[in-house]
Amino acid sequence: MDIGKNIADIKDNLPAEVKLVAVSKTKSPEIIMEAYNAGQRVFGENKAQELSRKYETLPKDIEWHFIGHLQTNKVKYIAPFVSMIHGIDSFKILKAVNKEAQKNNRIIPCLLQFHIAQESTKFGLSEEEAHEILDSEEFKSLKNISIAGVMGMATFTEDENQVRNEFRFLKKIFEKLKKECFPRRKGFKEISMGMSDDYLIAVEEGSTMVRVGSKIFGAR
Ligand SMILES: *Cc1c(COP(=O)(O)O)cnc(C)c1O
Repeated sequence: MDIGKNIADIKDNLPAEVKLVAVSKTKSPEIIMEAYNAGQRVFGENKAQELSRKYETLPKDIEWHFIGHLQTNKVKYIAPFVSMIHGIDSFKILKAVNKEAQKNNRIIPCLLQFHIAQESTKFGLSEEEAHEILDSEEFKSLKNISIAGVMGMATFTEDENQVRNEFRFLKKIFEKLKKECFPRRKGFKEISMGMSDDYLIAVEEGSTMVRVGSKIFGAR
């Protein structure tokens, strides 16, 4: 497994403005260092304590993204350093992030996760739930988070058309929210979609950030 070559191959297929988040969950610091030494600086993890341990041992110029479902009692492990939280799927977790960010005197960029897949197991908001959050007075009082865009996961299926339609749907949600809720916010610009098996489709449909794990590091 040549991790450096895998990263180079993926980057060859990505427009320069699309960010590659190397998903290193379950991988050891030694393996992550192979990607680091190949020039990769943006990594994604989905367990708060695992992320916190890796942050402690690995170089400090790594940009760490939290990409999974986050529990309120785990926010404290990542709030001091995390660069972006992709999986905001409730008002409760957004408020918990704001609180811990405040303790650390930081503003943490967050992505709202939308439920775009047909599978019932994938976390995420509906458009209605997002509006309930964004239109509320309490949301406006949260000073230590900034909503930087949206995130979604497509259905795990061979049907490319279905995957494409789900990504298209997420892009539509993004455009609508931008118009309705963030018309003057330059920072609302990210569409985090696409993984090892579907990142090329995601890029065609407007992804600005792909989260790729097994295509870089091998199977987990
Ligand atoms: C694990 C994971 C990925 C990466 O998946 P691969 O198929 O290995 O590329 C991307 N996004 C999320 C939210 C994940 O949990």
